Amino acid sequence: MVLAMKFCWLLLVCLWCQAATAACPNVIIVLADDLGYGDLGCYGSPVIATPYLDQMAAEGVRFTDFYAAAEVCTPSRAALLTGRYAIRSGMCGGSRVLFPESKGGLPAAEITVAEVLRAQGYATAHIGKWHLGTQEGSRPLDQGFGTSYGLPYSNDMEARSDLPKGATGSATPPADGWNVPLIHDGKVIERPVDQSTLTRRYTERAVDFIAAHKEKPFFLFMAHTFPHVPMFASVDFKGKSRAGIYGDSVAELDWSVGQLMAALRREGVAENTLVFFTSDNGPWLVMGDQGGVLDC
Ligand code: MG
Repeated sequence: MVLAMKFCWLLLVCLWCQAATAACPNVIIVLADDLGYGDLGCYGSPVIATPYLDQMAAEGVRFTDFYAAAEVCTPSRAALLTGRYAIRSGMCGGSRVLFPESKGGLPAAEITVAEVLRAQGYATAHIGKWHLGTQEGSRPLDQGFGTSYGLPYSNDMEARSDLPKGATGSATPPADGWNVPLIHDGKVIERPVDQSTLTRRYTERAVDFIAAHKEKPFFLFMAHTFPHVPMFASVDFKGKSRAGIYGDSVAELDWSVGQLMAALRREGVAENTLVFFTSDNGPWLVMGDQGGVLDC
């Protein structure tokens, strides 16, 4: 994927920080969920237009041979944030991914890049999907992030039928049938979350975070919910692509990247910010036209 690296970027940040003439760079990792290699314009998609990512690839570095640490969400994210094979942190168990009822999570003893950068004076934020545990010690605020806004796990977990009596949320079952909570700094603020607005709201949060922390180094882990099934896009994107709701969802992610890049320029920090875009794993092929493609 565009600027897809796992550990090399950690090395880049360290080298940059040690350069006498350079201020510590801001770091943004934009992580898509289950995005196929061939689902971006800059990787040859003939049906999904991604002008902002294409521009980023043209102005930066586009990697074409990269291996995520795992083929599913949880271990891939554990490796991304810790720089260790997921089997070493216990995040590569029998079920492969964590579920809402799972007892385990990323151990508190694991050192994440957020913890390392925060110790260096960085403001740190997690926005989007977490999927590294819901128990104390493994949550975003326990793992080096100063703030967190997003979903605790995949957007297809916790069906509506599991809704406990008296739980908050709409009285009308959502069309998607899921009961996924939106969590802000450890508190459930919406349940079931309106998934069609997630990408837009993540983006607004990210833009605000950039503006609020432009005077000091910041690290933003922007882990999008999409294009993981079930697929959603906002009204501005739904029905607009040539690749169904999957393409609409990816187009909105592309828009989101464009918003972040514009915010960096507007706040005057574009030249001192490393922006990475990659996916946690490849396409969910069994989902058919909602699962992305391997290649074009
Ligand atoms: Mg995934």
